[in-house]
Amino acid sequence: MITCYIAIGSNLSDPVAQALDAMDALKSLPKSSVIQCSSLYSSTPMGPANQPDYINAVVKIQTELTPLELLDCTQAIELEQGRVRKDERWGPRTLDLDLILYGNEVIDSERLTVPHYGMKEREFVLYPLAEITPNLQLPDGTELTNLLTQVDRNGLSVWQA
Ligand code: ATP
Ligand code: MG
Ligand code: MG
Repeated sequence: MITCYIAIGSNLSDPVAQALDAMDALKSLPKSSVIQCSSLYSSTPMGPANQPDYINAVVKIQTELTPLELLDCTQAIELEQGRVRKDERWGPRTLDLDLILYGNEVIDSERLTVPHYGMKEREFVLYPLAEITPNLQLPDGTELTNLLTQVDRNGLSVWQA
């Protein structure tokens, strides 16, 4: 069993429901179990500013899926929840599921870069991750607590109805 972290993001078609549905879908992953879900967070968009705020969360799972099997599953969930791939980078989307960490593995293949290439700079990944596993260490030895001192919350807040 490998411990993995998956980041959820949504800013279209009822993002809160999208994020909760994604958590449910992750609970149904084959050969896997969800260990913990972070709170839902509200964040201001990265990239194009003329789009709605995002709902973000991080989910900790244990899995026997290989990294690419896991990516296949999370991409299938994205499509089931209406993700339409567009040319615009970081544009609005119903659901984004990014594989942040896969155990201590470092993966650099055509379809998959793990740890996720943006995780060290993204407040909407780091703070939910720290809520679940505050003492986390990245494969390169970086302490999550150190990253948090370097990355501004940028308006990130725990979402409340
Ligand atoms: P970003 O990757 O900057 O967060 P994005 O999530 O919007 O942008 P996507 O359109 O969801 O990007 O994914 C583009 C491609 O990234 C996917 O087809 C996938 O093969 C690849 N990819 C590489 N590493 C990862 C990873 N760790 N998790 C998810 N997808 C990844
Ligand atoms: Mg992403
Ligand atoms: Mg993605």
